[in-house]
Amino acid sequence: MERKPPGRAVDARQARPAPPAKRTGFDLDAPVQYLKGVGPRRAEAFRRLGVETVRDLIWHLPRRYEDRRQFRPIRLLTQGATETISGRVTGAYTERRRGLAITRVILVDDSGSAQLTWYNQPYLQNRYPAGTRLVAHGKVERRYGAVQLQNPECEVVTGEDLAGMGRIVPIYPLTEGLSQPVVRNVLFALQPALSGLPDRLPPALRAEYALVDLATALRDIHFPETWEARDAAQRRLVFEEFFRLQLRLALGKAADESRRGIAFGLTPAITAEVEELLPFQLTPAQQRVVAEISADMQAERPMHRLLQGDVGSGKTAVAAAAALIAIRNGYQVAMMAPTEILAEQHYLTLERLFAARGVKVDLLTGSMGEREREAARARIRAGETALAVGTHALIQEDVAFARLGLAIVDEQHRFGVMQRQTLWQKGAAGATPDLLVMTATPIPRTLALTLYGDLDLSVIDQLPPGRQPVNTQWFAAHDRDILFEFLREQMAAGRQVYYVCPLIEESDALYAEAAVQKADVLRDAFPEFQIGLLHGRMKTAERAATMAAFRTGALQALVATTVIEVGVDVPNATVIVIEDADRFGLAQLHQLRGRVGRGAEKSHCLLVTDPKHNPYTLATMDGQSLSDGQRRMKVMVETTDGFQIAEEDLQIRGPGELYGTRQHGFDALGSLRVANVLRDARELETARTAAFALLAEDPELRRPEHAGLRETLGEPLHVNPVTVG
Ligand code: ADP
Ligand code: MG
Repeated sequence: MERKPPGRAVDARQARPAPPAKRTGFDLDAPVQYLKGVGPRRAEAFRRLGVETVRDLIWHLPRRYEDRRQFRPIRLLTQGATETISGRVTGAYTERRRGLAITRVILVDDSGSAQLTWYNQPYLQNRYPAGTRLVAHGKVERRYGAVQLQNPECEVVTGEDLAGMGRIVPIYPLTEGLSQPVVRNVLFALQPALSGLPDRLPPALRAEYALVDLATALRDIHFPETWEARDAAQRRLVFEEFFRLQLRLALGKAADESRRGIAFGLTPAITAEVEELLPFQLTPAQQRVVAEISADMQAERPMHRLLQGDVGSGKTAVAAAAALIAIRNGYQVAMMAPTEILAEQHYLTLERLFAARGVKVDLLTGSMGEREREAARARIRAGETALAVGTHALIQEDVAFARLGLAIVDEQHRFGVMQRQTLWQKGAAGATPDLLVMTATPIPRTLALTLYGDLDLSVIDQLPPGRQPVNTQWFAAHDRDILFEFLREQMAAGRQVYYVCPLIEESDALYAEAAVQKADVLRDAFPEFQIGLLHGRMKTAERAATMAAFRTGALQALVATTVIEVGVDVPNATVIVIEDADRFGLAQLHQLRGRVGRGAEKSHCLLVTDPKHNPYTLATMDGQSLSDGQRRMKVMVETTDGFQIAEEDLQIRGPGELYGTRQHGFDALGSLRVANVLRDARELETARTAAFALLAEDPELRRPEHAGLRETLGEPLHVNPVTVG
C-alpha cells in the first residue's frame, strides 16, 4: 500500500482550479465558529464534542431519530413504551416525598394531558414556563389514572427550528452549551455543502452493492425523509468504513505474500514422523488444522496463519507438528509465549517430545542468568538449536538465528500485534519465515475479520476426547466453610487445586503480598496438605521449582495470582477457586477456568464474590437489573463455550473496550465511526468480499476509477481526503 508523500496534498490542491467544496460556498476545513448560528461560545462547546471544522460537523452523526411526522396523541400513549409527544406547557410544580423532590411539568395536547416527571432536579420546574411548546421523549408510566413520561428528554419548539418538526428528526450527542435545535439547524443549513464531498466508492461498486452515493448518504443520515432512506444511508456509510478497512488489510496481505518465503518439503518420512510424534491420536479438528498449516508451509509464499482454539483444545500439539516439519527441512523454529511460566512449560513439553529425536530444544527468557542466556544465544546463532522456546525476548533481544524458518507465537492476544518486521529480519537469508499465531481468545468471526483480516484463519473446534464440561458454581464469600470443606474432600481424593487471589490493580507488590497472605490462610486451614505459592515477583528458579512441585503432585494446592491465567497445563488439577471473581473480565475468567478440565476427571470452577453481590438473589432478578459483574458470573455458570462467552463479553463491554485499540497497536476499531461490528456483521462480510474481489481485478488500484480509493485508503472515512498529508 502506498501512502502519498507529504506535500503532495498541497500540490493536488493547487492543481485543482476549484475544489468542488469551494464552489458551493462552503470550505470544509473552515472552523465551525464562522458558520451562521455558531460563534465563539458554541464553537468551544463543539470542540468538546471533537467538532472543530465544518467537516467534523458533517460527521457528527445523530445518535437516534424521532419520528415527528406525527406525534403520539397523549391519550393513546402505551404503558411501558418509549414515545414522543408534543404539546404546550400549562404548569409545573415540585413535591417532596420521603426526601425525594419530584418535579412535574404538565404538557397538554389536543387529546389529553401528561406529567413530565423528574426526580431530584427541582430546577427543571422553572425551565419550561407555561405556554412553552415542547417535544418530550421518554418512557410512559400510567399510574393512578395519570399519564407520565419519566425523565423525558425535552426540546423547546421555536418558529425558527426549520428541521425540528413535521419530519424524522435527528437527535445528536450534545454537551453543555449546545441544544438539539442549535446543532440541528446548523447542520440543516450545511446540506448544500454535502454534494461537494468527493465520493470515493467507484460507481460500478456502488451499483453492484446497491449503495447510495456519498452526498445522498450524508443528507439522509442527518435528515432522512423516510426510515428506508435513513437505513440506506447508514448501510452505505457502514459499508464504506468496512470496505476501506478490508481493502487496507487485503493490500497489506498481498504485500506480505509477494515476499519470497520458504517452500518446505513434506516427504513421506516426515509425515510418518509427525504422526508418531505425539503420545496421543490427534483429534480430527487438529488433523485438519495440521493439514492447513502444512499446505501453507509447502507453498512458496510465507504463511500468515492465525490458529484459534478454545482453551484446552490442544494447540501445542499442532505447533509441535508444524515445528517438526520445519526442523526436518533443516530450518530453525522460534516459539514465543507471553509469560515466563508458559515458556518454561512449553520448553518442558517440547523438550520431552523432541529430545528423543535428536532435536535440540533451548529455552531463552529474560530472567535467565546472563551466562546461561548467552550460551543459549550462541547455540541459536550457530544453528545448533533447532527449536528455541522463549518469551517475546526471543525476537526482540539481540538474538540472531542461523536459519529461522518458522515462528510460532502462542496466546497472541497478550502481545499485541506481532511485529512482523522484526521477525523478517531474523529470517534465513533472503527468505521470509512462516508465521503461526495461536490464540485461545475466542474472537467472534466478525471481529476476527476486522482485527486479523490479513491473516488466514484455522480453527480447532473440538476438544480432545474424554473431556467433561467444568462444573461452575458461584459462591458468596461468607460460604467459606462449605467451600473449604469441598476443597478438603477433593485434595483428600488426590486432586489438585488452583486458588486464584483477588485481583489487585494498585501494584504488583500489593498483589504479590495478597497472595502471600492467602497462602497463609490456606496453610492454616489445611495443615494436612502442601500448599504452594506462585506470583509474578518470585525469582525464576523459585517459580520453576514451585511449578515443578505442583506438576509432580508434591503440592496439593497452588495459591496464585493471574500468572497462571494463560496456558498452564496440569491435567491432574481439577479445581480452581477464583476470589472476587466478578472483578475479572469474562475472557480472563474463561482462561482461568481453562486451567482445569484438562483430564478425564470431573473438574470444578468455584467463583467467589462479595456477599453484597449475593448470587442467591439471582433467581429473583431479571437479566436487566444485574450489574455487569453479576452478568459475567451468570454467563460463566451457564456456559463453558468460549465463543458464546466472547459474544456475551462483546455485548456487555462493547467491542472497543474488549479489543482495545491500544492493546493491539491497531486502530481498526477505533477508526469505526458509523459501523458497529456487533450490529453490522453482515455488512462486514459483504465489504470484505467486495474488497478482495476488487483487488483481484486491480491489485494495485491502478485503474482511474480507483484513484480516489487509492489516494484516501490510509485515512478513515471522515477525514478530509484532500488536505490530509
Ligand atoms: P491449549 O490449546 O489450551 O494450548 P494444550 O495444547 O495445552 O491446549 O492441550 C491441553 C491438554 O490436552 C494437554 O494436556 C495436551 O497434552 C492434551 N491433548 C492435546 N491434544 C490431545 C489429543 N488429541 N488427545 C488427547 N489429549 C490431547
Ligand atoms: Mg496453550
